[in-house]
Amino acid sequence: MLCWSHAAQSGQPRNIRMTDEYDLLVVGGGINGTAIARAGSVAGQRVLLVERGDLAEGTSSASTKLMHGGLRYLEHFEFRLVFEGLRERAIMLRTAPHIVRPLEFRLPHAPSMRAWPIVRIGLWIYDLLAIGGGLPRSRVVRGPDGALKDRGRPAFSYWDGWVDDARLVVLNAVDAAEAGAEIRTRTALRRASRAGASWRAVLDTPAGERLISARLMVNAAGPWVEEVLHTRLGLAGRGHMRLVRGSHLVVNRTLGGDHARLLQQPDGRIIFAIPYLEDLTLIGTTEVEVSKPDDNRISAEEEDYLLAAANLYLRDALTSDDVIGHYAGIRPLFDDGADNAGAISRDFRLELDNNGAPLLSVFGGKITTARRLAAVALHKLGIVGGDTRHRPLPGGDIADVAAFLAMVRRRWPFLDAPSAERLARAYGTRIAELLGDAAQLSDLGHGFGAGLSEREVDYLVHREWARSADDILWRRTKLGYRLSPEQVATLDAHVRMIAG
Ligand SMILES: Cc1cc2nc3c(=O)[nH]c(=O)nc-3n(C[C@H](O)[C@H](O)[C@H](O)COP(=O)(O)OP(=O)(O)OC[C@H]3O[C@@H](n4cnc5c(N)ncnc54)[C@H](O)[C@@H]3O)c2cc1C
Repeated sequence: MLCWSHAAQSGQPRNIRMTDEYDLLVVGGGINGTAIARAGSVAGQRVLLVERGDLAEGTSSASTKLMHGGLRYLEHFEFRLVFEGLRERAIMLRTAPHIVRPLEFRLPHAPSMRAWPIVRIGLWIYDLLAIGGGLPRSRVVRGPDGALKDRGRPAFSYWDGWVDDARLVVLNAVDAAEAGAEIRTRTALRRASRAGASWRAVLDTPAGERLISARLMVNAAGPWVEEVLHTRLGLAGRGHMRLVRGSHLVVNRTLGGDHARLLQQPDGRIIFAIPYLEDLTLIGTTEVEVSKPDDNRISAEEEDYLLAAANLYLRDALTSDDVIGHYAGIRPLFDDGADNAGAISRDFRLELDNNGAPLLSVFGGKITTARRLAAVALHKLGIVGGDTRHRPLPGGDIADVAAFLAMVRRRWPFLDAPSAERLARAYGTRIAELLGDAAQLSDLGHGFGAGLSEREVDYLVHREWARSADDILWRRTKLGYRLSPEQVATLDAHVRMIAG
């Protein structure tokens, strides 16, 4: 069996209490927590990140997976938010080109919904705000779209980014660990209080209780940020959060073309239909205001709404039989007093509580702008350095993606084309570490199905904190749609055995 080593993976002896001192304790292993841990450790801080479940188990694996400025936000005149999103999009396309890639969007014109000149002007503004970002400009497409009922309808075309959201989280954590951070999954903050100039925290770990102290604390618990404030820290939150559930359907059909479609709805909303995992389509999203952060299951009404929204445009109607999966996440939004959920700003707000040892709480944000959020967070905490603008995420040191994919096919010719592409996109240049000198398929050990080998599983356990089949199938990879229940059970038993 292969043996990987990693400082951040060293297990704790069972039931032993220990006290450690850190500069920065980050609570929450979503995109915001891991981005802050990464920037903090790059800045030379002693960082501990705790995540009570798996990395990206909260909202950060349930997004629409767009690395975007947000064309829609122009309707709310959020020019700065859109500009910052587009600037981050350009940075991420450069520093993580394996997991972030350009994607064309087409918006079939629906005259009764938004007037042609309004959309055209909006796209020109979007182009202008994205100048220098390296993606093609918007244009009008007049060719037929065979997937739509009204095939001849002209459409606007523009480009944005697609991101593997959960892998972005994991790669931020890997980079943080390589810069010295300690990443602990399955580790919850039970409670913490101020003691002089630092925080004393009690953690629930798989090995038992652990006590630590830290000079600074970041509460990046996403939808649970107020729960952490009230219940874990005993502090009064100010009721800043609006929790808005967004649901997606995964349908077992492609709509033709490599582009995504934006489908305007009579209620003013826009639904995305995005090509997903070669032969599937992702349809989302909804906006349902909820009161509890755990209320993250799609309802029957949302499923009906999404099918009807797609069928308003699709020539061959989708039925619930086409749906092979769904997921929902809670947007943790900062309450700006907007009347409806769609109008609440997607901008982030960082609140610094300096009433003793500093505590920074993160409200809102987007996957797209997490790197920038982390830079602002460090600044607010008085930490100097940690600039990640030019720092590739692990595996992202790729100058030319097409040439890299061709190299992978040449160097490991025994991989079938879909597996080679999947591995190259997931691991980037780290694929060399994963596959090493394997010369034939059998060198990769047991096959768990859908191209998932024992060697990849071992890598994910020892280098990326995977502890269960779900961690691998739904967050490190998206192979959950491909394995049978029996294959999942075999995989889970193997993962739990090697994770110990
Ligand atoms: C439907 C939907 C679509 C979206 N689409 C996009 C998009 O296309 N592009 C984009 O840029 N953004 C998008 N977003 C926004 C983006 O997904 C979120 O802003 C982002 O994921 C929030 O990340 P986070 O780290 O704040 O929260 P989370 O990812 O939820 O992470 C918080 C973590 O804290 C952990 N935690 C909670 N309590 C404790 C505790 N006591 N101890 C330890 N850990 C704890 C949780 O387990 C969780 O993993 C979308 C959001 C939704 C819901």
